[in-house]
Amino acid sequence: MSSLLAQLVSALNDGSLKIVDLSQPLGPDTPVISLPPPFANSPGVTIETISRFDDGGPAWYWNVLSFGEHTGTHFDAPGHWISGRDLPDNKCDSIPPGRFVGPACVIDVSVEVGEDPDFLLTPAGIEEWESKFGRIPAGAWVLLRTDWSHRTGNDEFLNVEDDGPHSPGFSPEASRLLAHDRDVTGVGVETVGTDAGQAGGFDPPFSNHNIMHGAGKLGLASLCNLDQLPPVGAVVFAAPLKIVDGSGSPLRVLAIVEE
Ligand code: MN
Repeated sequence: MSSLLAQLVSALNDGSLKIVDLSQPLGPDTPVISLPPPFANSPGVTIETISRFDDGGPAWYWNVLSFGEHTGTHFDAPGHWISGRDLPDNKCDSIPPGRFVGPACVIDVSVEVGEDPDFLLTPAGIEEWESKFGRIPAGAWVLLRTDWSHRTGNDEFLNVEDDGPHSPGFSPEASRLLAHDRDVTGVGVETVGTDAGQAGGFDPPFSNHNIMHGAGKLGLASLCNLDQLPPVGAVVFAAPLKIVDGSGSPLRVLAIVEE
């Protein structure tokens, strides 16, 4: 074992490094995004028992899972969006695995979102964060801490009104800055998707998906425990299932942080 990896193992064992789970439980209660007609919707999670220490399997327990690729804490591949559909290595099974691991930059807008659920991160907000914590490096996972994951139940989490969902996200200019000028690996959010609730009306529509995936960048949605991460210094591991031609996948997102 190299000394670097020996140091990593030793620091995990002695508690000077710890693992933070950024994933929500995945089950029948997991909220799923709801699109207006005429768009097709993703089903919720179902878990059906094959056998559980019974006649079908006296010594074993296992289930059949059914859910859409974009359910719960999940990964968005560039090929999820029309802007990224012709890029090389743009699906769950073809993205180079080295891209799944990177440094986290955690931008805390939880106070702003507490006052305005439609709050959008702007280039000015990114630059203000950088003036305190340093320039966002190429290859970073930029995680938007909103404390939205503290909301419980479908209604609070999806926050749909007569004019559509209201939840925070990125202005189109912020997505462009992160994708093009900072060359991030991707963005992660606590909400049901990486676009703001009202982003269907932005230019371009669903601007974060459009801009990020058009630039080959990745997405993470429905994260939690971002309040346990420092602004800089954590390392995130976010590897989707290797679904053939997959547009996305539920996944377990882990961060390593220094105690
Ligand atoms: Mn998605």
